[in-house]
Amino acid sequence: MKLIVIGGGIAGLSAAYYAQKQIPETQITLLESDSRWGGKIATERTDGFVIEGGPDTFLASKPWGVALCNELGLADRLHGTNPKTKNTYVLHRNRLQPLPDGLAMMIPTNVQSILKTRLVSWFGKARMGLDFLRPAKALNGDESLGAFVSRRLGREAYENLIEPLMFGIYAGDGDQLSLASTFPYLRDLELKYGSLARGALAMRKKAPSTPGSRSAFLTPTSGLAEMAEALVESLRLNGVCLRLNVPVESVCRLQPSTWNVTLDSGERLESDSVILATPAPVSGKLLETLDPALASVLQSIHYASTATVSLAYHLGDVPRSLDGYGYVIPRREGRRALACTWTSTKFPHRAPEGYALIRIFVGRAGQDDGMPRDELALTNLAREELKLTLGISADPILSRVFVWENAMPQYNLGHPAKLAQIDSALANHPGLALAGNGYRGIGIPDCIHSGEVAVEKILNLVSLRGRQPDPCTARKGR
Ligand SMILES: Cc1cc2nc3c(=O)[nH]c(=O)nc-3n(C[C@H](O)[C@H](O)[C@H](O)COP(=O)(O)OP(=O)(O)OC[C@H]3O[C@@H](n4cnc5c(N)ncnc54)[C@H](O)[C@@H]3O)c2cc1C
Repeated sequence: MKLIVIGGGIAGLSAAYYAQKQIPETQITLLESDSRWGGKIATERTDGFVIEGGPDTFLASKPWGVALCNELGLADRLHGTNPKTKNTYVLHRNRLQPLPDGLAMMIPTNVQSILKTRLVSWFGKARMGLDFLRPAKALNGDESLGAFVSRRLGREAYENLIEPLMFGIYAGDGDQLSLASTFPYLRDLELKYGSLARGALAMRKKAPSTPGSRSAFLTPTSGLAEMAEALVESLRLNGVCLRLNVPVESVCRLQPSTWNVTLDSGERLESDSVILATPAPVSGKLLETLDPALASVLQSIHYASTATVSLAYHLGDVPRSLDGYGYVIPRREGRRALACTWTSTKFPHRAPEGYALIRIFVGRAGQDDGMPRDELALTNLAREELKLTLGISADPILSRVFVWENAMPQYNLGHPAKLAQIDSALANHPGLALAGNGYRGIGIPDCIHSGEVAVEKILNLVSLRGRQPDPCTARKGR
């Protein structure tokens, strides 16, 4: 049995890892177009700073990230977010206002803190209260996240509280994002409890109380690249063929059970099965000849471009106390930045004593053309944001810019129907599986899980082949 995995981001690395673990007799090749492993995971370690260019942490409640770290021997290296200063701020009329306490699953549940917050007007607060009274709406089909939250909590609460938090995950337009594909549990709460706040409170009560337990977000000591590095090391030790700098050009089927992978160098590889762990539109391009209809659905999944700018300062050059994890910026503030993470407070071990490390997130869906790509322009944009909001005018002692073209998949309205089309098309291609952030979850744990699920699909094929004669071999034998 031969397996080729295409794409060496966290999904592809995980797929190769679980394949060598679950089907050890398989000859596995992992192909990556870039000159390094990890895809969107990009950590730079310099002068005592740990700078994340892409993701900076992962959600602990989705079990697949922690499980993989445990297997890779990284359990003791996982850090939570700083428990001492948990504030998060929202920029509101050019000033930072604390996010109200008691947000559960993004939903405000603490009436006192909602009454106190300046982020929503009295009218907006009264409108939020209707969530307790309005019955669940009977709906068939998909609804946008923006429409749903506005219907339950009012437009003001959506724009000032929920949408900016959601930006950090999807960099998306909430009025386009599919509720069913992004936050399906919100609709479940509405249906079950008749109110988001009541439902979120009930879920919080049900959650096991774990005093002193781990934080909701985790990250390895010297950055998320530790996960990619440990995966590569494990794959190498287990005889997986690892190839960098090999862009794949197409994936076709030669016979019912033989796949042909063509590299841009013209080299052709044969395999019994293929896992495509590339971004959905890339996977679509690679499958154009094999299945144009499947290719077109994959290419219709839009990805937004984003960038991060990390700047380091002497603490003395930062006039405001960085007493929290940072702030998010609602669209109506009209800023070009999306959010700002106070990295050296959120993860104190990521900057040497006496320094502040700050990361500015730029770019969102619908703004792709307006986002500068140039390093200097992005640095200037970030510095302007820090000057306006935090009053920092000093020159940074260090600056790092990462531009991510077409990086954040947008699970827009109609995404669930696309997934159904993709699944039904894949049923015609035994031995082919997809993994990655384009389908059922954008976070690192989801991507790891997608790799594991893709391997299960290949495993089913192996056990099926064990039971049935291969049609080609059978024909030859006759
Ligand atoms: C700025 C930013 C911040 C984020 N923050 C977080 C966070 O804090 N927490 C979190 O959980 N998630 C976060 N995410 C999301 C998460 O990082 C990604 O969804 C995830 O890393 C994607 O992994 P993947 O393996 O699916 O795709 P990728 O990492 O994109 O990997 C795909 C790989 O395929 C390769 N490839 C492409 N074309 C070809 C080809 N033709 N041939 C061979 N190889 C090819 C690419 O080079 C790439 O290495 C963030 C994302 C970004 C961009």
